[in-house]
Amino acid sequence: MWGLPCHFSYVVNNCCPNEFIGDQKSYICINILAMIPAEKFELLKNQLEGDLYTDNVQRILYSTDASSYKEKPLAVTRPKTAADVEKILAFAREHKTSVIPRAGGTSLAGQVVGSGIVVDISKYMNRILEFNKDEHWIWVEPGVIPAELNKWLAPHGLQFGPETSTANRCCVGGMLGNNSCGLHSIIYGSVREHVLEVDTILADGSKVTFGPLTKEEFRSKCEGDDSLLETRIYRNIRDILSDPENQKEIRDNFPDPRVTRRNMGYAIDVLLESEVFTEGGEPFNFSKLLAGSEGTLAFTTRIKLNLIPLPPPHVGLVCAHFGSLEDSLHANLIALKHNPGAVELMDDIILNCTKENIEQNKNRFFVEGEPKALLMIEFACTTEEELNAKAAALEADMRAARLGYAFPLVTGSDRIKRVWALRTAGLGLLANIPGDTRGVPGAEDTAVAPEFLPAYIADFKVLLQKYGLSSVYYAHIATGEIHFRPLLNFKDPGDVNIFRNLMQDLAALVKKYKGSLSGEHGDGRVRGEFIPFMLGEKNYQFIRQVKYTWDPDNLMNPGKIVDSPPITEFLRVVPGAPTPKFDTLFDFTSNMGFFRSIEKCNGSGDCRKSEIIGGTMCPTYMASRDEDKTTRGRANILRELLSEPGGKTPFDKKEIYEVLDLCISCKACKAECPSNVDMAKLKAEFLQHYYDANGIPLRSRLIAYLPRLERLAMIVQPIANAVMSTRLFKKSLGFATERKLPPLSNLTLSKWYKNGAALSDGKKGKRVYLFNDEFTNFHESDIGIKAILLLTKLGYDVRIPVHKESGRTWLSKGLVRTARQIATDNVNLLRNLISEDTPLIGIEPSAILAFRDEYPDLVEDSLRPAARDLAKNALMFDEFFMREVNKGNISKETFTREKKEVLLHGHCQQKAVASTLTTKQMLSFPENYSVKEIPSGCCGMAGSFGYEAEHYELSMKIGNLVLFPAVREAASSVLLTAPGTSCRHQIKDGTGKEAKHPVEWMYEALKS
Ligand SMILES: Cc1cc2nc3c(=O)[nH]c(=O)nc-3n(C[C@H](O)[C@H](O)[C@H](O)COP(=O)(O)OP(=O)(O)OC[C@H]3O[C@@H](n4cnc5c(N)ncnc54)[C@H](O)[C@@H]3O)c2cc1C
Ligand code: SF4
Ligand code: SF4
Repeated sequence: MWGLPCHFSYVVNNCCPNEFIGDQKSYICINILAMIPAEKFELLKNQLEGDLYTDNVQRILYSTDASSYKEKPLAVTRPKTAADVEKILAFAREHKTSVIPRAGGTSLAGQVVGSGIVVDISKYMNRILEFNKDEHWIWVEPGVIPAELNKWLAPHGLQFGPETSTANRCCVGGMLGNNSCGLHSIIYGSVREHVLEVDTILADGSKVTFGPLTKEEFRSKCEGDDSLLETRIYRNIRDILSDPENQKEIRDNFPDPRVTRRNMGYAIDVLLESEVFTEGGEPFNFSKLLAGSEGTLAFTTRIKLNLIPLPPPHVGLVCAHFGSLEDSLHANLIALKHNPGAVELMDDIILNCTKENIEQNKNRFFVEGEPKALLMIEFACTTEEELNAKAAALEADMRAARLGYAFPLVTGSDRIKRVWALRTAGLGLLANIPGDTRGVPGAEDTAVAPEFLPAYIADFKVLLQKYGLSSVYYAHIATGEIHFRPLLNFKDPGDVNIFRNLMQDLAALVKKYKGSLSGEHGDGRVRGEFIPFMLGEKNYQFIRQVKYTWDPDNLMNPGKIVDSPPITEFLRVVPGAPTPKFDTLFDFTSNMGFFRSIEKCNGSGDCRKSEIIGGTMCPTYMASRDEDKTTRGRANILRELLSEPGGKTPFDKKEIYEVLDLCISCKACKAECPSNVDMAKLKAEFLQHYYDANGIPLRSRLIAYLPRLERLAMIVQPIANAVMSTRLFKKSLGFATERKLPPLSNLTLSKWYKNGAALSDGKKGKRVYLFNDEFTNFHESDIGIKAILLLTKLGYDVRIPVHKESGRTWLSKGLVRTARQIATDNVNLLRNLISEDTPLIGIEPSAILAFRDEYPDLVEDSLRPAARDLAKNALMFDEFFMREVNKGNISKETFTREKKEVLLHGHCQQKAVASTLTTKQMLSFPENYSVKEIPSGCCGMAGSFGYEAEHYELSMKIGNLVLFPAVREAASSVLLTAPGTSCRHQIKDGTGKEAKHPVEWMYEALKS
């Protein structure tokens, strides 16, 4: 340890725990030297094709990953090319700081948390470079996302095998860094088995490709020019691994080779088995060492990956249900005898979390009763018969051993995807347990040979008892890796202490079974401290030699794997510090307050999915691929800056305002984020307090007040429409001149209704109430009229009750105080009128869903039960329609038999708070109507967002991701439909095509 530079930012942060500075005999804290003047960074920035940031916001955004750690880097860069990376490394060398290579930032062990310069390759360095179908290989840049790569490869019948739970947003470079693997690791192994060659830039700036070498080639590398770092690297490994004593030390003290998931230290044990050192071994290949080296040895700029054929077509999951965790551990050994492709475990704690999660609850379709544990056992077969036979044989064996009580076989790619989604959501869902106690990462990644699992878990439970802890158990049981996450509160210094002691005891336990402390998540800073104990001091010194031969100045991601700081340093929360408390307008009690609602974000990065992967969260990230436009980024900024002093109030922070500005309040995160971080609600609450300190901008005021202004404007409707369509009007109020502002209808719906038109048919029918939202009333009364006529024709007595506007315009602009008053008024006006028998039906999803989503959290405590009752009976038109169909109250005979194709774009808030399922069902109710839903996420308009001049471009970019191309491609005979008013305007502006509200198409489908 001595004699090497300290890589922590103790000095910068003034928190050096060991008072290393001054009296230190041998530690030199390089961060003393890392006070780099801004001009120097400016010079570097000018040299880069990519980006460089030194501002506080970007440094906060990149100060965490999915681990419990946090450290602010000096700067953030996003290189576009290998040449950029070279320049960044040269700069770091010159200024004696470090670089932290970063991809998706989903590491769980703090691998991408550090004090130097973060180098994020995910935004630009993500190209597919060269593909050879016949030889099954592909060259890619490190920022390629594996699930996207596999979509690209699928038509060629090939895939990249290792598949993390994060495969839809992590990057191949990050997977290589951590030697990741996934649920099929039993057959596909980890990245190490699939990396063929790697192009790197070494710490001294030299560019070196590492690939397979014969004995002779290896020898000649070692005999190369002594001044080359590459030569020294080869000689170093030769010197370590050719010594028989060292060989014995490694073989004796590295984990049991039967533990296929072993990610501890550097993989010198794997290199030892290469043919250079072991007769009959594979060719020597340093790429295998780079796999799992966590960016501490070299910077990867290109990777050549091995590809494998797609699995056979008949895939099925036997979802075995058990009455105890122990039974599932024994059953795993039976399952392994049947040669499955994967066996994954889920315990009852995680399974129960999925009940409360909007998205995951839909994926519990196969769960029978209340199992204590589930095993998901996958078989991929060439025929259906083979699959059924395998499933039956497995069930028979398990039943014979009296293990398990239900064994449903799930088939069909969509249903299988849903089961895996349920399983992989587990980690994020844990963050949903309200309060400060979490399933913390650290102990979660151990692996032992599967046959030891029952004994090992029994020992682990004793260990937990010693500390009075409980844990969850899930994941890759087939390979002996179970993610257990003891529930701890890092805000409590006592728990931090327990964590440390537990980790120490756990290390001893894993060593007893010759297992690996890290199976797949890597050492990072959470396990680095225990590597000397796990591998033995001699082996530890070998890997330190490796590190400092490759990286003599500790430039590359210091503090990971070797010479790590204590595991309890640089935690994301400050132990002992109180949780900030704020008075809020929304009710946040279900998450124990506003701040804890932010802290639910655990950094898992699900909000970094792209449009290629699908889903809605997070539209602005999809269009930009910028970390500050992820839900995670917004949560990180809120959490950090709200805790910082400054401003008239804690909310008076322009930096937060600017970052939240590009959250378009689509609410997708509320449903799709496994932790249900509800950024739209957090943003609205923040904005109200920010405006309290800074005043409300004119345009926001105008948009919020629209429903009231429009009432006046209707008096002079033609003039108002003419004025609104002028460039001057739009420009002076900050609206995009490219947009056509929605014109006012000739007649409001309420006026038409008051005139008593066309309602006689339904007078004797069942009473229903229509919510005459402000968008329908003033701008699209024709849709409202059709809704009433349609319902009347179907035999309902439709009434528009006395009510206020929905409050959506106020909510979207963060004027929560007024929205709260509106919600209170509406609940009071409608509480005695609306019931299951007499529901409130809405046309515009964003308006009616305010009753379901926001009102119950907005009104005061005494009104909450009434608001909740109202929420249950506030239905979108299609929900009501299908409810009545299911009761047999609506007949197909009422509708045409004409053949039509319908193309649906669902509203993003509908997707988050309700579902598009009933819309699809309603639109396919006419005998010969067929409906396709565009996998479009958010349209990009998001209320007023897309109308605002500064947001126009981003709004169109979002629309262009999936929605516009799908609409443009549709044949002219296809009925385009979108329930959201903003969506319809966006479709018109982006494609020139008209989409109608589903109600309109249903009205037109009525038999004449
Ligand atoms: C919810 C959840 C589930 C997970 N499930 C799994 C799982 O099933 N299996 C599994 O193995 N892991 C899993 N992980 C861990 C994590 O997702 C994986 O390790 C993933 O491969 C990391 O990829 P990333 O792109 O996010 O990399 P990052 O976290 O950004 O980086 C990973 C490492 O690679 C290094 N690195 C990145 N780019 C380069 C480069 N160009 N050159 C050199 N070094 C580089 C970094 O310095 C770092 O050390 C999970 C994490 C979460 C949050
Ligand atoms: S916001 Fe949700 S999805 Fe995004 S990182 Fe945080 S927890 Fe994960
Ligand atoms: S509300 Fe939508 S835009 Fe805002 S963070 Fe959530 S997913 Fe992203």
